[in-house]
Amino acid sequence: MELGQQVLRTDTAGLPLEWVGYQDAVRLYSLGLIAYTLGQTLYRLHGGINAATGKRSKLTVHSIIATYGKSIAASRLASDYVPPVSNSALFKRDAYLCLYCGHSFMARDLSRDHITPVSQGGADEWRNLATACHRCNNHKAGQTPEQANLQLIAVPFTPSYAEYIYLKGKRILADQMEFLKAHFPRSSPLLERINT
Ligand SMILES: [Zn+2]
Repeated sequence: MELGQQVLRTDTAGLPLEWVGYQDAVRLYSLGLIAYTLGQTLYRLHGGINAATGKRSKLTVHSIIATYGKSIAASRLASDYVPPVSNSALFKRDAYLCLYCGHSFMARDLSRDHITPVSQGGADEWRNLATACHRCNNHKAGQTPEQANLQLIAVPFTPSYAEYIYLKGKRILADQMEFLKAHFPRSSPLLERINT
């Protein structure tokens, strides 16, 4: 496994917290903050030589690590938690489709559309945001979909915290995906996509 693979960090209750890189994972191991591990072995690393025993320490980093420490998950799991909006997470929420013309695009060819335009009082929040291609966004301009005679092909939703971690993931391993999915709301629109 290459060192770029992200590790899914959870709290001791198994609630997903964040992605960490291998250096941060190693730091958590060396600080003794790992409560238990799940998932496959990502890396086996050699540490320093123990002065007392003369043995070289070994470290095995797993794909999912549960860590001690103050849990920050509880507030994020509250039903009213709203993750911060970013274009990358928004485009992934919408499966890189323009929600107006329905075509698939590369991220660089997509933009953040305010469904109710800011100029008409629309907020910069998940449920008022749609992924749009430049063409549709230009056509829509400062209008609502109705005014521009456009129709959304999906209902924009606010991701839960577990869904948000999924949206932030770069290359998610099968065992990490299974773990995250178990924390998705049962009605998650993402499940159908992930399961196919
Ligand atoms: Zn479009």
